[in-house]
Amino acid sequence: MSTDPDCIFCKIIQNVIPSSRVYEDEDVLVFKDIHPSAPVHLLVIPKRHIPGLSAVTAADQQVLGKMMVVASQVAREAGSTDGFRTIINDGRVGRQDVLHLHMHVLGGPTPLGRMISRDEKTD
Ligand code: 5GP
Ligand code: ZN
Repeated sequence: MSTDPDCIFCKIIQNVIPSSRVYEDEDVLVFKDIHPSAPVHLLVIPKRHIPGLSAVTAADQQVLGKMMVVASQVAREAGSTDGFRTIINDGRVGRQDVLHLHMHVLGGPTPLGRMISRDEKTD
């Protein structure tokens, strides 16, 4: 399993950095975001270090599919029974802060705000 010694999410996978885990199997880990933006805010990550969505290849197809299935399951189990949102930020333009692929799962009992607007400030 490839890991990056400087990556905080690899350290979370290895339990070097603690996290609130909600799901784990041999390929995927899900834990609570440390700064939640909604009542349900989970991060679904592959255990293999993949820097971001722009770095994936056909070899990652299986784990990417599993991340989607797991996201749906954990969202429901966390209480998002009436829908949720997934977000994958990528690279500079996508404002990705942690360079280990992760899918945000956002939800809760009430509707989230709408998607970003086109005229939102971008500096
Ligand atoms: P990005 O902006 O890269 O899409 O999202 C990174 C997310 O990781 C942020 O929502 C941030 O709160 C979360 N995060 C960063 N460091 C940690 C950490 O050490 N533990 C947990 N649980 N979440 C983290
Ligand atoms: Zn990593």
